[in-house]
Amino acid sequence: MTPVIEQTARTATAEAGVRESLAGLGREALRDRLAQAGVPERQLRMRVNQLWGWLYVRGATSFDVMTDVAKELRTNLGARYSLDRPRIVSEQVSVDGTRKWLLRLADGKDVETVYIPEEDRGTLCISSQVGCTLNCTFCHTGTQRLVRNLTAAEIVGQILLARDRIGDWPGAEPDDPTGLPSGERKITNVVLMGMGEPLYNFETVREACAIAADGEGLSISKRRITLSTSGIVPEIPRWGEEAGTMLAISLHAVRDELRDELVPINRKWPIADLLDACRAYPGLSNAKRITFEYVMLKDVNDSIADAKALVKLLAKIPAKINLIPFNPWPGAPYECSDWEQIERFAEVVNRAGYASPVRSPRGRDIMAACGQLKSASLKQRASERLGEARA
Ligand code: SAH
Ligand code: SF4
Repeated sequence: MTPVIEQTARTATAEAGVRESLAGLGREALRDRLAQAGVPERQLRMRVNQLWGWLYVRGATSFDVMTDVAKELRTNLGARYSLDRPRIVSEQVSVDGTRKWLLRLADGKDVETVYIPEEDRGTLCISSQVGCTLNCTFCHTGTQRLVRNLTAAEIVGQILLARDRIGDWPGAEPDDPTGLPSGERKITNVVLMGMGEPLYNFETVREACAIAADGEGLSISKRRITLSTSGIVPEIPRWGEEAGTMLAISLHAVRDELRDELVPINRKWPIADLLDACRAYPGLSNAKRITFEYVMLKDVNDSIADAKALVKLLAKIPAKINLIPFNPWPGAPYECSDWEQIERFAEVVNRAGYASPVRSPRGRDIMAACGQLKSASLKQRASERLGEARA
């Protein structure tokens, strides 16, 4: 067992539901909330811009620090609204510096957010839904029934909260410096690879990405935001046109028969349709490639014949291939491929011209790796219910 440092983090000041939080809202919503607070029409634009800078450039967590906003308005805003982030239930820091936060939303639902630091970059993996309606057989999240879509504020809130915790605001310090990248910005990339199928929460995820990418705010460029989908084919070109982030496809199999089993949405939109949608992805070029994710399942999809079929399948698409060692979870019906087999598979992929494709598992000791996300509190509540039913 690898040791885990567990910490109980600060909890948000106000109890959920008392005052609405403005943290994570877009410009239109902020405008609306300011108008509700009595800010005159002619001032709205200027006030939204002020708030925007405080929220998304400086990471303000209180109205008091907003020195260019009149005291009276600050007091008024503070009485109506908060700047709370989702509440942290637990924070775990892996020996490799990976951090996982279990977050409780205003209605008591939980989601997880994971931060993966590397030498020269830091990737934040965020959730788009509580649970997931799809049932990919190798995915832990898929075993949890869908509770609901996240709001844009809850999606952006995950970025704000992570930046709070790792001290990624101007002049801030991290609570725990373990493994942080050396550059000035600690979160350089965002991936929608946490809980949920982001294309099933399309409009909201699109809005959240626009807030994150805003050059006068969080400034995480769309080239550094990657949406991962299991293959909701009709939404793929639309996502490219309307949001234009980088795209990752959870492929995992090269034959429909097997993909039908692993990623059941394949029965609706099979591999050929999926790849057609990929070829039509707006802006696709050698400089802007699609990432194909391929989870390595022992004796299921990891043969050399599969590797050859994979490179053949993707031959005409500007692509990157990410081989993901399967991350086990309790009761999972698969095993991770042997390391030698992953290497043999990778060699075929490498020879076809794809560079360093194996994604090293991060944060396994804290169940923060891909597909391991499933909030313990939900499981706990389920067992409580079971207990009640038995009593
Ligand atoms: N629903 C979206 C995004 C979230 S899943 C999607 O499926 O793409 C993010 C990635 O983790 C996907 O590629 C998914 O297939 C992969 N994944 C899920 N469970 C995994 C596991 N147990 N081990 C390794 N990767 C897993
Ligand atoms: Fe949902 Fe993605 Fe997991 Fe499939 S792999 S169940 S789409 S979160």
